[in-house]
Amino acid sequence: MKTLKQVPLKDYTTIRIGGESSDIYFPESIDDLILLKNIIASKKTIILGKGSNIAFKDHGYKHSIISLKYFNKNKIDDNTHQINVMAGVSCARFAKYCHKNYISGYEFIHGIPGSIGGALAMNAGAFGDDIWNHVISVRCILNNGSVKNFMRNEIKTSYRLVNKFNIKIFLDVIFSIDKHIKFDKLLLSKYSKNRTDTQPIKQWSSGCIFKNPSKDISASSLIDSANLEKVKIGGIYISKKHCNYLINDGSGTCQDLEELIRYIRNRIKNKYNILLDKEICIY
Ligand SMILES: Cc1cc2nc3c(=O)[nH]c(=O)nc-3n(C[C@H](O)[C@H](O)[C@H](O)COP(=O)(O)OP(=O)(O)OC[C@H]3O[C@@H](n4cnc5c(N)ncnc54)[C@H](O)[C@@H]3O)c2cc1C
Repeated sequence: MKTLKQVPLKDYTTIRIGGESSDIYFPESIDDLILLKNIIASKKTIILGKGSNIAFKDHGYKHSIISLKYFNKNKIDDNTHQINVMAGVSCARFAKYCHKNYISGYEFIHGIPGSIGGALAMNAGAFGDDIWNHVISVRCILNNGSVKNFMRNEIKTSYRLVNKFNIKIFLDVIFSIDKHIKFDKLLLSKYSKNRTDTQPIKQWSSGCIFKNPSKDISASSLIDSANLEKVKIGGIYISKKHCNYLINDGSGTCQDLEELIRYIRNRIKNKYNILLDKEICIY
């Protein structure tokens, strides 16, 4: 199994922030994961998908990291009612696979730049849909290193939140195929266009930094109305295209990011008495 040490963690995140790593393991199979049992058992070990919702501290991460980047062999298998996908498969690839095979319902996930495992961990969603709405069951590795299957109703989820209790790793998932949804060949490109038009997808970011406080109030509407559009701390600034995106101009540090997050939260708390909750994971 490939292992790396002392590599710049910014290279593993879409916001391109982070100091040096300690050991990063790249398992490709269950056998590789069995070898990592003790590492998996450590509370400090973290799982890395595509790093699209992660920033690492400037001094780096001193504990082990397990990347599921190569955990994508035999990747997508479908039959008429369900589809099996491994955690390391990218959301875009999975959505394109579905589209190519006339499977409806997964177009919403196409523009999410993460992995299926990361999407399960974050309950990623877009355009009014969430990934867990489509799950039949998941296969996981628990904190003690054992493998366990869970049916959908055994896992509690809510908006961008999954109660993982003793789950350490989402390994793969069985999604349902809903034959009742009519296939719309234009939907994928319609969603992609919506993203390009409204989000700074070509810049270094982690997507939305804050969760929406409720169904009726978006974090971006609060930030927008608090006149924060010109705020920049160090190399991190609020995107003009979508003010819930914080952009790294290339010189940004984790300290800049955390200061800007604090600044925005304080301004929103003082103005609206609402405490914004972070969506990004900072390690
Ligand atoms: C331009 C842009 C647009 C975005 N748009 C959206 C959007 O529309 N909707 C949305 O919900 N999000 C969006 N995001 C955020 C991000 O893409 C999602 O949260 C995505 O699901 C994260 O997946 P990842 O593989 O990158 O996970 P990572 O960022 O690598 O990890 C995120 C968290 O999940 C955990 N994790 C990752 N993989 C696993 C696994 N296999 N098992 C257990 N835990 C795991 C990590 O430990 C970490 O805590 C966007 C981000 C960007 C940069």
